[in-house]
Amino acid sequence: MASSNKKISKRDTGKLLNEWSQEFAVFVPSRETGVATMAKWDGKDTSFLDWHRNTVIPPKANFLPAMEEMFNFQRDKEGYHIELPPQDKHKQLIFGIRPCDAKALAILDMTFSDSYQDPYYLSKRKNAVLVGVGCTKAYDSCFCTSLGISPAESTDVDLMLTDIGDEFLIEAITEAGKKLISRSRGLAEANEADETRAKASKEAAYQKVTRQLDTDNIKQRLLANLENKDYWEKIAAKCLSCGVCTFLCPTCYCFDINDELVKQQGARFRSWDSCAFPVYTEMPMENPRVEKWRRVRQRVYHKYEFYPMSFDVTACTGCGRCIRLCPVNWDITQALNNLPAKV
Ligand code: SF4
Ligand code: SF4
Repeated sequence: MASSNKKISKRDTGKLLNEWSQEFAVFVPSRETGVATMAKWDGKDTSFLDWHRNTVIPPKANFLPAMEEMFNFQRDKEGYHIELPPQDKHKQLIFGIRPCDAKALAILDMTFSDSYQDPYYLSKRKNAVLVGVGCTKAYDSCFCTSLGISPAESTDVDLMLTDIGDEFLIEAITEAGKKLISRSRGLAEANEADETRAKASKEAAYQKVTRQLDTDNIKQRLLANLENKDYWEKIAAKCLSCGVCTFLCPTCYCFDINDELVKQQGARFRSWDSCAFPVYTEMPMENPRVEKWRRVRQRVYHKYEFYPMSFDVTACTGCGRCIRLCPVNWDITQALNNLPAKV
């Protein structure tokens, strides 16, 4: 019996990406720069189809680059003349985004379209198409399932692909996804056996996420420990304040703005910033987070307490990067799981 889903052989996926490249700027997981990131597809290499998990640099970098020119300016006798950088009209198609990172983009969407509509982020995000690929293995640091996220399913993408052996099952999640597969060539109808294989593949992926975060009464436990300086000092002791955890976190969005001026012309840039840095909250009168434990506490509370208060969603997807890529393996699950019940 046919299902409403489609399928494609892994062998033919390159052809599909080539076809999509006629319409979109296609980005795929790549290690060409030496670090796994979402990079423009070269039209040939499909080795990323064998990757099982998320990239080091999260796909947020496609919408909120590490450094971005906001505008450039010239100064003359009449004052400043501002010119916006040319907008890339080419719509992005991100192929191979994982469910945790797609959820992270949905969280960033809330930030950047709240009371201030950020034109730089939203212009790139507006027309982007997300093609998710479910994970088939998990890192030891992954804990997405504790936060209600499946490693192999997502409603935050347009199309979702599931590894069913030599083929991918393709599910259309949004209207844009439906339209895209209706005009894509080379897709076959999925049948009942494919659906059964996809179900088994998703269940197996779920079981592979073994790290657990105890989310029971997490808000109450966090509130009870807000002023528990001894606990946060102990927890923060080994942190180096390097900022890697925030730069690579798919939901962290803080940025700094700087002007570069040479003679009569210059440009304004924004670049990732981090609440891990001692100067981050420096103000003319005081710096409220000089001590490291306050900065570490801020990062945890922002994700698990302050952000849910504003947007009703936890600003952590359990992607595990902040554990895996931290030079001293500082562990957010340990910090939360060991919160004292009573202070
Ligand atoms: S990556 Fe690790 S050491 Fe660096 S700021 Fe984050 S917790 Fe601290
Ligand atoms: S806090 Fe850590 S686990 Fe959570 S989304 Fe950010 S990097 Fe991933």
